[in-house]
Amino acid sequence: MRKEILRAEKLNTLGELAASIAHEIRNPLTVVKGFLQMMHKQEKGNNHYYLSLVLTELGRAESIINDYLNFAKPQFEKLEDAELAEIISEVTLLLEAFAAKEGVQVNVQLEWGVYVETDRNQLKQALVNIIKNAIEATDEGGEVHISQNTVGHESFIVVSDNGKGMDSAQIARLGTLFYTTKDKGTGLGTSVSIKIIEAMGGSISFKSEKGVGTEVTIMLPAYKKENLTLLNQQK
Ligand code: ADP
Ligand code: MG
Repeated sequence: MRKEILRAEKLNTLGELAASIAHEIRNPLTVVKGFLQMMHKQEKGNNHYYLSLVLTELGRAESIINDYLNFAKPQFEKLEDAELAEIISEVTLLLEAFAAKEGVQVNVQLEWGVYVETDRNQLKQALVNIIKNAIEATDEGGEVHISQNTVGHESFIVVSDNGKGMDSAQIARLGTLFYTTKDKGTGLGTSVSIKIIEAMGGSISFKSEKGVGTEVTIMLPAYKKENLTLLNQQK
């Protein structure tokens, strides 16, 4: 018991150290990026191409740091009533170009009038990570299906793909920081999503079969608003 507590404390300190380093690195990175963007705009010669590459990699470093910081401490800055269907459609719109490039069709089935109280940017981030994984796992010509339905005070968002799937050992590693099977993966997306969903009082579960596909179910505490105008008048 005592040993476990010590271990947890150690992990906590290491995590805090990593987060503060990540935070300190982000500031100079932002400055460097600003100057490079300026140079990139002015440069008309050969270096224009090199600067594009540098900026792409810098963007990658920046998003790894942001994801890690978000994992270490999700920031729920502005809580508001967010309509789930609206958030899901915003996220699918955001990923439309990416899905098209990968040759994957995304189908969405929405249920309007269901709300969650949350920081909508956090929820969007959690969904982007999960849906992006589904698209990435799916071969050209494949499909990703997103559906949403509410039972009582629980709303379920199901993201399923007919992609490469995972075996039980892979499923067990989901949510482990930096676990990735991709060449350019960061292994942060799933961990960040789990953390956000749990911070919202929800839960997330994965069902997958190698070579067949994956189904991710996100449960969120939600409520229905039958008569919006009436509710607004009462405020
Ligand atoms: P990354 O996408 O950067 O690899 P994630 O944390 O988002 O990191 O995912 C971790 C790993 O989990 C992926 O590399 C992949 O092997 C596996 N994975 C996640 N979602 C799926 C999915 N829908 N289908 C198959 N494998 C998945
Ligand atoms: Mg990912």
